[in-house]
Amino acid sequence: MDFVASEFGFELRTCRWAERAWPPGEPRESAVLVARQLGTKRRRWDTVVLECDPEGLRERSRFGPERLDGDLLDVVQHAPEEWAYYRDALPDPGYPWRYVRESIHRADDRGILETRRDGRRIEIRRRWPYPDWLERVIAIENKPDLDASAARVLGPQLEFDVATALADEVWVATRTTGERVEPALLEDLPVEAGILALDPDGLTAEVAWYPRTLAVDEPGTRILERPSGGIRDASASRFEYVEPDEKAATRLAIAERAYERGWRSYVDTMRPDCRYFETRTDGQALPFCAAKGRQQTARECAGSCGDFEPEPPAWRQLGWPIEGGPGKRIRAVLEDRRERRRPER
Ligand code: SF4
Repeated sequence: MDFVASEFGFELRTCRWAERAWPPGEPRESAVLVARQLGTKRRRWDTVVLECDPEGLRERSRFGPERLDGDLLDVVQHAPEEWAYYRDALPDPGYPWRYVRESIHRADDRGILETRRDGRRIEIRRRWPYPDWLERVIAIENKPDLDASAARVLGPQLEFDVATALADEVWVATRTTGERVEPALLEDLPVEAGILALDPDGLTAEVAWYPRTLAVDEPGTRILERPSGGIRDASASRFEYVEPDEKAATRLAIAERAYERGWRSYVDTMRPDCRYFETRTDGQALPFCAAKGRQQTARECAGSCGDFEPEPPAWRQLGWPIEGGPGKRIRAVLEDRRERRRPER
């Protein structure tokens, strides 16, 4: 199996391309962060591109490289400039205040909030305002071989994205074939979704179909059940509305996870501690399995892999504990690159 031909390999190329060249065919005006395999309980996107306000992103970096979950966001977004009793400063959470106190202590431990006691009362003060750093969320599905059956499978997923309008744009990235995308394929995909023809070797891309910008500030429609037909088959569908506030919170939660993980975190779920784990660099440090003689997928490279053998202890002892074996090195290389994609604090 050719690595780039696999969906996993293609996905990493899409991420790499987006990091370098997003938005397609236009000058870059925003800061761009790329992550993979993120979304909600119901829908996970292959590639997520965040268009960010550069100054806001720099200010976000003061809160550290780890994500802020919803509870921490509730605290830091509402923390006052001057000392105040936390219950006066924060909005009623709708759940017991003791959970808010836990979040306050977590934020304090992370150094992103100031706290002090006034008798039995906990007072809080913000260290910095939480910035408005996220501008747009772009969702990309990777389908290197977009044939008729792939388009039929993908169609309802993209219709879900269009109806929910959680992302500002949804795209399908497919391998460039040098030919026009078949009009018949387009019929199975919603017109609102863009199509990107990507050359995974040359890391260039062309827009085969431009997407429509989705109404992220308006209520979305979450399709719960669709026994037949497409979204236009309304008589057969069960759906619910998603309020703009809920969408905004979900978008920010996804963005925070993307900020923490980036797209190079795939190594976190692989086995770089395996003796056969190598890296091949064509400018982007990709994993390679010496046992299989090819680049392995993230799914293959797991504890269940039949070829797994632990990294020999001697490899670790060479530079251990500072450098470790090859597994440690790829982690370090990828972590370093992930850091460099984020702005300095
Ligand atoms: S042998 Fe299995 S676990 Fe080891 S590097 Fe290859 S795919 Fe990963």
